Amino acid sequence: MGPKINICWLRRDLRLDDQAALYHALKSGLPVLCVFIFDKEILDKLSDKADKRVAFIHYQLNKLNDRLATFQSSLLVMHDTPAQAWQQLINRFQVNAVFTNHDYEPYAISRDAKIGLLLQQQGIAFYTFKDQSIFEKNEVTKDDGKPYTVFTPFKNKWRSKISPFYLKSYPNKKYFNNFLKAKAFAMPTLPELGFNSSSLTFYEPALSKNLLENYASQRDIPSVKGTSRLSVHLRFGTVSIRELCSYAWSVSDAWVNELIWRDFYMAILYHFPHVNHQAFKKDYNNIPWMNDEAIFTKWCNGLTGYPIVDAGMRELNATGFMHNRVRMITASFLCKHLLIDWRWGEAYFAQKLLDFDLSANNGGWQWSASTGCDAAPYFRFFNPAEQTKKFDPAMIYIKKWIPELLTDSYPKPIVDHKFARERCLKHYKTHLAKN
Ligand code: FAD
Repeated sequence: MGPKINICWLRRDLRLDDQAALYHALKSGLPVLCVFIFDKEILDKLSDKADKRVAFIHYQLNKLNDRLATFQSSLLVMHDTPAQAWQQLINRFQVNAVFTNHDYEPYAISRDAKIGLLLQQQGIAFYTFKDQSIFEKNEVTKDDGKPYTVFTPFKNKWRSKISPFYLKSYPNKKYFNNFLKAKAFAMPTLPELGFNSSSLTFYEPALSKNLLENYASQRDIPSVKGTSRLSVHLRFGTVSIRELCSYAWSVSDAWVNELIWRDFYMAILYHFPHVNHQAFKKDYNNIPWMNDEAIFTKWCNGLTGYPIVDAGMRELNATGFMHNRVRMITASFLCKHLLIDWRWGEAYFAQKLLDFDLSANNGGWQWSASTGCDAAPYFRFFNPAEQTKKFDPAMIYIKKWIPELLTDSYPKPIVDHKFARERCLKHYKTHLAKN
């Protein structure tokens, strides 16, 4: 059965440096095996067999594996349900303890509870750590211990609590000799996982002082690279949030605030898991949506006749990314102009976004639909034409994604803006008044 080992279970923390669970595993004294499980419970539900997330993870795992090979170690990549994978690991290795990082999504919480129990029954310790956020769970709460539901006081408390302690990197490198020496394990190919390779568009992680200095003035302009494009790396943990936050700290308050939004939405999902399927504000569950499927399909395909909306949807469909300003415009348009359930849009983004993250996506959608905590009030109605004037006045972004813009083949607006605005305000008002 081989020597006693500790296992570091990687999930959304796909890096070797400044990684909390891996640091504690490596420091523990026993050789450490890194394991990743392609979870059949998740993969089997993905209908798109060219899913970009699977391809991204696969690419990053290969990189990790190459790096582990320089320490004569190897990453063990499995394809199974977590329970079955862990049963196999326990049968195959003499496992002393398992180290992993917290994940705050409802599915992950219940998965980890089950695996923790399975390990406990075998006398194997299960140690878990904070890694993907700066503050988690109850670390930032109101003075009475209740969770915040409004961003600004959350941010103020977050900023009053922060200290170098929370941003300190874990010095994993000191312990890299402690990886289990192992012959290369076979890495499943994408087809073996049931997927095709997919064209991937993303930037390698980088954050420059120049970008941060210009962030506040450039962040809303979709035609320039004025934002970091780090979301996919934060999502899968291919960068350390502590490292990024320390680097940005004295350069851009505006950028650090975005990381605080990220912590905020993670805390909301953790404390209010009902947001996963329902409106944060329960009264908003009673709004009946029109849910016209043909209209929804036009929105998905970037064929609404509203250029800024269509450009955003086409960017999403082609690359798996959409600029934040345009995410707000397209999301608001679906819920308010078209009166389609925010959950339909949320699910579509979840399927397409390379950086899809349940907490941020849900937070963004509920903000746009006005159903969320600290959301835009329902009478705030984005005007696509005004947004275009402000943020893409020369239509550089729009023309990039809609080459046929000025031709007859570009559709006429799917709904009149003024009519849609009045309809929406009346609709929300009427149904909220009924509660
Ligand atoms: P930057 O502007 O450089 O920001 C730095 C980092 O801060 C981002 O990488 C991200 O991790 C975090 N961040 C920025 N804005 C937000 C925000 N509003 N909420 C939470 N975290 C934020 N972000 C996701 O990571 N995954 C999603 O699934 C997601 N879905 C969204 C859906 C809607 C409808 C909306 C309005 C926003 C959504 N966002 C989501 C937030 C935001 O659009 C992206 O994080 C951002 O566009 C990513 O680009 P960037 O890395 O260049 O961001």
